[in-house]
Amino acid sequence: LSERLSGVFDRLTKQGALSEEDVKTALREVRVALLEADVSLPVARDFVKAVQGKATGQSVTRSVTPGQQVVKIVHDELIHVLSGSEDPGKLKIDNPPAPILMVGLQGSGKTTTTAKLAKRLKDRDGKRVLMASLDVNRPAAMEQLQILGLQIGVDTLPIVKGEDPVTIAKRAKTQAALGGYDVYMLDTAGRLHIDQELIAQAAAVRDAVAPRETLLVVDGLTGQDAVNVATEFDDKIGVSGVVLTRMDGDGRGGAALSMRAVTGKPIRFVGLGEKMDAIETFEPERIAGRILGMGDIVSLVEKAQATLEVEQAERMMKRFSKGQFNMNDLRTQLEQMMKMGGMQGMMSMLPGAAKMQKQMEGSGVDDKMLVRQIALIQSMTKKERANPQILQASRKKRIAKGAGLEVAELNKLLKMHRQMSDVMKKMGKGGMLKQAMKGMF
Ligand code: GDP
Ligand code: MG
Repeated sequence: LSERLSGVFDRLTKQGALSEEDVKTALREVRVALLEADVSLPVARDFVKAVQGKATGQSVTRSVTPGQQVVKIVHDELIHVLSGSEDPGKLKIDNPPAPILMVGLQGSGKTTTTAKLAKRLKDRDGKRVLMASLDVNRPAAMEQLQILGLQIGVDTLPIVKGEDPVTIAKRAKTQAALGGYDVYMLDTAGRLHIDQELIAQAAAVRDAVAPRETLLVVDGLTGQDAVNVATEFDDKIGVSGVVLTRMDGDGRGGAALSMRAVTGKPIRFVGLGEKMDAIETFEPERIAGRILGMGDIVSLVEKAQATLEVEQAERMMKRFSKGQFNMNDLRTQLEQMMKMGGMQGMMSMLPGAAKMQKQMEGSGVDDKMLVRQIALIQSMTKKERANPQILQASRKKRIAKGAGLEVAELNKLLKMHRQMSDVMKKMGKGGMLKQAMKGMF
């Protein structure tokens, strides 16, 4: 998917201007790419529709290069769709002992994820966790959890052969209460395919313990199928979140998108390997990046933003070179200077300003002065800022007083403003201003 989308966006960004029709064409390719990544058809369709609505609404002409804008919109929309709960990594475990039920198909990674989360709760939150395997179907399934428990230093419920899942769940509940555990995690049996017996079993366990969290574990490598599984589990058992496993492989992340869009359930964690630490809180930005091939996208979006700034600067420069440089502009400049490492840093970038810089050094110009100058400008009326020429003695007094400074200070500011306007006008005539600004971005 990444490659495919990168290709699409490469083509977009190589075009100068993009018509609405071009956006449509590009998004058609996005849709195909999503489908190739096993994003379900309705999800891909809705996603593209949403992006198209937004792209068209924003009017392509306002963008720097339309291709870049489309990239940003696709990316933002992806994050928007993927974002679920505010704090996906926070499990509801107040009122100990809190039951957490793990469900999913066989081989999806339930047992592994159970142990990973138990370790996380123990290490990060200092919780006492008890794990219990309810998998009576598969031989050695219970031993698997027991071994993982020993490995990570988390207790497991002693194995009693011949018990049914509900009995084990109840025993876990009792044991957790008696043993003073904060959390008990129930790792259920899976099937290769979803069937009614499996669902009925999970529902019975749910009714027996009333879990605070029911986490559906889904193999991130399976596409379309995963969505059906999720829908079924959620309808019949009620799921509070999804864990996507095997996201360490070259999983395309497509499952994440459909899962989220179809079930509306938040993705809470992603499994990133077989090791016990290989689990992370779900971050929509990362998965979005993965689906789109982020490296390129990030830089493209950043480029787009930078270009926007250059455009703004150029517009400003155009006005300046016509001698339209008022106090509001000066204030913007002063604020910009503060952001860009103060007076010295800024001045050294303006070739024509070397002389001015020397002058200022002699007169004690420093960054504190920037703050005072901004205060002076703030104390002017709208009219005064637009036409500093109208400043007479009485106005000057009022402004200086408003800023808590001397009139002499205001005079210095006005002089600087005049000098800067002059320099800009001169540079504007020779086209130097534009050159100078180009160098700055
Ligand atoms: P269960 O049948 O749902 O309990 O699945 P298991 O927890 O037994 O996992 C099945 C296999 O998948 C095991 O070999 C795990 O090590 C592996 N596995 C689980 N989660 C991940 C993951 O996030 N990444 C990778 N690469 N392998 C995983
Ligand atoms: Mg298992």
